[in-house]
Formats: sequence, C-alpha cells, structure tokens
Amino acid sequence: MRTAGPLALTAVLATSACGADPADSATRADGSQGEKTDVTAAMYPLQWLAGQVGGPDVTVTGLTKPGTEPHDLELALTQVAGLEKTGLVVYIKGVQPAVDEAVEEHAPDRGFDAATTVKTLPAVAEEGHEGDAQEEHGHEVSYDPHLWLDPARFATVATQLGEKLAAADPAHAQGYKDRAAKTAADLGTLDGEMAQGLSTCASDAIFTSHAAFGYLADRYKLRQVGISGLDPDAEPSPARLAEVAKVAKQEKVTTIFTETLVSPKVAEVLAQEVGAKTAVLDPVESQPANGDYLSAMRQNLTALQAALSCS
Ligand SMILES: [Zn+2]
Repeated sequence: MRTAGPLALTAVLATSACGADPADSATRADGSQGEKTDVTAAMYPLQWLAGQVGGPDVTVTGLTKPGTEPHDLELALTQVAGLEKTGLVVYIKGVQPAVDEAVEEHAPDRGFDAATTVKTLPAVAEEGHEGDAQEEHGHEVSYDPHLWLDPARFATVATQLGEKLAAADPAHAQGYKDRAAKTAADLGTLDGEMAQGLSTCASDAIFTSHAAFGYLADRYKLRQVGISGLDPDAEPSPARLAEVAKVAKQEKVTTIFTETLVSPKVAEVLAQEVGAKTAVLDPVESQPANGDYLSAMRQNLTALQAALSCS
C-alpha cells in the first residue's frame, strides 16, 4: 500500500484536516520538526514551484483542480475561506481574475504576485489584431501573464519565492533559500537545453492555439502566431482564421500546435487548410498527465524541434 501516490495524498489530507492544529508540530513523516507553513498556489506551475522551494516545510494547496483550464477559474467558498488562514498565496496577477480579486479582499498582506518579480512583456498585439475585444477578455492587465513558460524568468521567481518564504517562516529560512537555489539551477539547466536545442532551426514561426508562448518565443527568438489571442476560450473570427491561414501558407508551416485542455477543432481545421499536421505544445497551465513542469517543458522542446526542423 505504501506507494508514492496514496502516501502523498494521505499526507495532504491529513494536514488539510488538521489545519494549524498543534498535531502539526509533532515529528513529521520526513523526520523534520515544527509546524508547516500553509502555502496556497493559484495554478499548477506555481504549485510545482512552491513544492520545490517549500519542500517539507510547507503544505501546498492548489486552487485550480488538475485537468482544468485555469483562466476562467471560479473559487468555491471554502477556497476563499482558506485564503483567510493561509501563510502565503502565490499567484500571477492577470491569469485568473477570480484569484486576483480574492487575494485583494482576503489576503492582501500575504499575496506573492510572481509578475512583480520579473520584467513582463506587453500583452500580445498581433498584426491586424489590435482593438479586438476578445484579446483582452479574461485578462485585466496590460502585460502577458504567461511568464512561467520562460525558464529563466521562472528561475527568478523561484529565488524570490525562497526569500518570501524565508521571511514568512524564519525558523526554516536556510532550507527555503537552499531549495530556491537548487530550483533556480534546475530551471537554468532547462533554459540552457532549450536555448541550445532551438538555436539552429529551419523555421522560427510557431502557430499556437492561444497566445500563451510569448515568453518562450521571446527567450528563444521565435515568432508566435496565436490563433485566438491570450484567452484560450476566445473563438477566432473567420477573418482572423483566414489571416492566420494566409501567414501559415507563406511560412510553409509544417505544424499547427494544439493544447491539452483546449478543443483542437480550430487548429485541426487550420492545419487541414494549409496542409500541416497538428502536435501538442503544452502551456503547462495545468498538471501534466505524466511528469511535472520540467518534463512537460522538455516535451515542448522536442515538439518544437520537430515542428521547426531544428538540427
Ligand atoms: Zn493562458
């Protein structure tokens, strides 16, 4: 019975049932002592990061259920109530309006907005696409919030999260700082692999379902053509589709990328129209079915190398 999955689940259930109960102060399963800090993470990539940096000193609660699209998240009353008691809320302002609002109202002094730690990119304004009301739907900020798709920026977030947790829970400060350094180094390794793997490619244009990959494109000098803007639920207009098809033909594109959580229908129609195939490029907005943030990004690298004919 002692497999990794059920054991981890039991630990989560046990802590959430006890909350800040003194029972937490007892020796933990991992042998460490002291009370765990409750960390709430708005969506998967931040949940992963909080787990890496927080290690055995935190209990991480995710607000977005695995396998659900995070942008249009609605919070349950119990989740909102949980924010009143949590030690730190890790989120990115602009991804999930419901979270932005709830943090402002229920945890204004305990919010850690990852977007404040890095240089953000402006929200995408594709050619001929400015002024499209759908573009802004669901995003109430002027920058592109998908910053976790740049491992270098995400490494900065890891370091800052380590500082933040160290300040919130000084008794375990060194552990947070050490794990933040290790996580930043892992992300640096990933960044190096991606830079190397995407340095010599026949094409540089990536055609994606929703424009989630602006940071990745910026970091590795690719050009993103998003079919439906920043919001994955926004249906592109026929005019927009025709425009993207025209560009795709000009670019002699081989692959139209789809996502795991968004219907591939539009991408499939487009691919058929321009004689390309479809492949998955994961915006890692939700927990991958197998693996974690790092393995999902490495799968993305493989998919990009095939689509762009990289040597
Ligand atoms: Zn998105």
